[in-house]
Amino acid sequence: MYEQCPFCNLKFEREPGYFLGAMYIGYGLGVVTIAVLAAVVREVIRWLVIRSTVAGIVLFLPLAPVLTWMARVLWIYMDQAIDPDRTQRFLF
Ligand SMILES: [Zn+2]
Repeated sequence: MYEQCPFCNLKFEREPGYFLGAMYIGYGLGVVTIAVLAAVVREVIRWLVIRSTVAGIVLFLPLAPVLTWMARVLWIYMDQAIDPDRTQRFLF
């Protein structure tokens, strides 16, 4: 991940621990993804719920880096909508 946006110079990690909030978004994305994958496995293979859930978790693991990245992007968008960092913009 870049330190700053190459287009508008927005500093992504505004302060230490900035992406802690992204962990909550990532948790939500992860739970929803596992639930969807488990439901698909349950419908297609007709396994029991616990076995389908374990399969959903295993299928989720390769997607974890992408979901972490998406959670950080969503966090930055939310943060900029609520508290825009105007000092970093328009410096180029
Ligand atoms: Zn930018």
